[in-house]
Amino acid sequence: MKKKAVGVKRGKTTAKSMPKPTSAARAHTLPAALRDRRKLEPDGEFRFGCHRGLPCYTDCCADVNILLTPMDVLGLSRRLGITTGEFIARHTLTPVTKDLHLPVLMLRMEEEPGRKCPFVDAQGCTVYEDRPWSCRMYPVGMGLPPARAGDEPEPVYVLFEDDFCKGRNEPGKWTVAQWRTDQNVTDREEIESGYRELISHPWFIGGRQLDAKRMELFHTACYDLDKFRDFVFGSSFLARFELEDALVAKLRTDDEALMRFAFRWLRFALFAEPTLKLREAAPQTRH
Ligand code: SF4
Ligand code: SF4
Repeated sequence: MKKKAVGVKRGKTTAKSMPKPTSAARAHTLPAALRDRRKLEPDGEFRFGCHRGLPCYTDCCADVNILLTPMDVLGLSRRLGITTGEFIARHTLTPVTKDLHLPVLMLRMEEEPGRKCPFVDAQGCTVYEDRPWSCRMYPVGMGLPPARAGDEPEPVYVLFEDDFCKGRNEPGKWTVAQWRTDQNVTDREEIESGYRELISHPWFIGGRQLDAKRMELFHTACYDLDKFRDFVFGSSFLARFELEDALVAKLRTDDEALMRFAFRWLRFALFAEPTLKLREAAPQTRH
């Protein structure tokens, strides 16, 4: 039984917005789902409380679009005891839209009727400790405007004020900063900070697009960490790059270290940044 179930916005529109890989051509615009919401400063207050006594309890865990971050995929896979590849195959969808310039994963809801989240039961969220970033943050949403030359994109916070959610009538008062601490998102965000840097990378300024091969590299390294580990240890990877022995040993067993390394390697593979060093006589194979 969980302390509380944190829901996400019900309905067809994107629930809350992770830093979304929107086109750099739409620089300084927020995703449509966030644009008309009430903006929150980090110290701006909102009212919210979520508990089993509310009539809406668990209602929000159905028919909802939940974008997954690399930490979400990793945490849920490990909790379920399956590989990241199995989790992606069983529990995610990869939406394709014309303005999506990087692959994203969405949590797959169960089939009709109800389209419930596969992880909700009558008691609440069965994966509470590993629930996705979006579920933690609701009713707060966050958008990260795409990069602009010489400008670090700052997160923009908004408040979802959904009628179906009775939690907004509860007496608890929070600032964004307090809510983020309470929901334990800051440590997780730090581990995957490299992911956020990738999706708002200045390389995309001007509307540049990755080719299909690089899109696939991004998908594997960001979301399918077990496949990325196989790639590192089962290919010529270690013969091509100069890596410290201690780091290599860590990458074999430490998921967080491997995730950080995956983001570092992606900067090399996608944007030709010198984040890794090739060995002098490295085999001339593709990334
Ligand atoms: S992961 Fe948990 S909190 Fe998120 S929608 Fe599913 S049941 Fe609800
Ligand atoms: S209060 Fe809001 S977040 Fe909590 S269960 Fe109800 S609808 Fe979901």
